[in-house]
Amino acid sequence: MERDFNIHSLGDRTKAIHAGEKPDSATRASAPNIVMSTTFIADADSGFSVENMEENDGWLYSRWGNPTVRQLEEKLAVLEDAETAIAFASGMGAITALLFHTLRSGDHVVVSDVAYAALSEMTNEMIPNLDIAVTKVDTSDLEAVRQAVGSNTRLVYIETPCNPLLRITDIEAVAEIAHRVGAQLAVDSTFASPAATRPLRLGADFVIHSLTKYLCGHGDALGGAILGKKADLLPLRKKTAIRLGGVLSPFNAWLIMRGLATFPIRMRVHEENALLVARFLEQHPMVKRVFYPGLPSHPQHDLARKQMRNFSGMITFQTENGREMARQLAGRLQIVHYAVSLGHHRSLIFYLPSEDLLKTTFQFAGKKQLESWKRFAGDGIFRLSVGLEDAEDIIADLRQGLEKENAPLFTHRRVL
Ligand SMILES: *Cc1c(COP(=O)(O)O)cnc(C)c1O
Repeated sequence: MERDFNIHSLGDRTKAIHAGEKPDSATRASAPNIVMSTTFIADADSGFSVENMEENDGWLYSRWGNPTVRQLEEKLAVLEDAETAIAFASGMGAITALLFHTLRSGDHVVVSDVAYAALSEMTNEMIPNLDIAVTKVDTSDLEAVRQAVGSNTRLVYIETPCNPLLRITDIEAVAEIAHRVGAQLAVDSTFASPAATRPLRLGADFVIHSLTKYLCGHGDALGGAILGKKADLLPLRKKTAIRLGGVLSPFNAWLIMRGLATFPIRMRVHEENALLVARFLEQHPMVKRVFYPGLPSHPQHDLARKQMRNFSGMITFQTENGREMARQLAGRLQIVHYAVSLGHHRSLIFYLPSEDLLKTTFQFAGKKQLESWKRFAGDGIFRLSVGLEDAEDIIADLRQGLEKENAPLFTHRRVL
């Protein structure tokens, strides 16, 4: 059955289900088959050099390309409005390939001073050790970004909303600043997801996703992706991704594709639940401060409204005696799992003490950056990934978890 519709003209829910998928011509299977084969029967005169690899060559070896992984890449590209995508074994696999591909010794890279921990740690020492200069800036401060870029800046790397503070960066404005000095802009859009923001439309050159989070959505497969223009990504695949080797397993590609089919529907409920939970937390006596881009109290709510079509499901909040409260919540919560990661159907919460993060992960150049951190995080924050359970059950669980003493056990549903 040949399909003759243009997938790009269809709605997001239809795209999420149908993009990248074709009924299998041999079996007529409706759901995608998983092709686990690592090698493929080749023509006797097919080439062996990756340098000669063309976009639509047949399959040769699964590190170069695999039919199931390619189906996922096509689905992701359609959902993100990208020309093409490359999938990796994890979000960090994608980030490593991007940095190794775009940067050479003598180059300069500007990185968001608060971003995913492993990326922050990698750019503290590993990247400078390759004779690549790194400047960390608060990328929500456009003047700071303007001052940080120079003629040898190759890449500006931002995260919006950033992990874990939910601080927001104006993608369009930073793209302009980067391009003016001939640098490219990479946006880690894991927290926003394509339901909220399409950074490529706003001028970004690369979009990064940890597929492990909202795109898979079920907490059972690690994965990552880089999306962008073919002119950038075909060389990235050929020269870097295939050689570094951090490629995605076809089985994980299949699981992530399965999750992606319901992605637009899930994001609606993540947002709806998160707004209710954020409002509940905002009026709770044990909670000092709540950050959620969808609340008018978020310091960048206007920018969030301009740049995000969906406010996603991530909330941060502060309480008195964070460490003690973390112990209390870890012991008491019944529905919300006390665990790292985010974007799953299950609600997850974790306490991030400022002292630990400022010691091992985030290095600030000046007082202004530290003040910005303190404004959002204080002594520490709870990062709450609001899942797809009923909002009233999540709220009832948090209520009994936060209760001062003699908390009633979580035994019945309460009406909001
Ligand atoms: C989780 C995460 C990553 C890393 O992804 P992995 O799949 O765990 O390697 C990168 N960026 C952000 C914003 C993340 O939340």
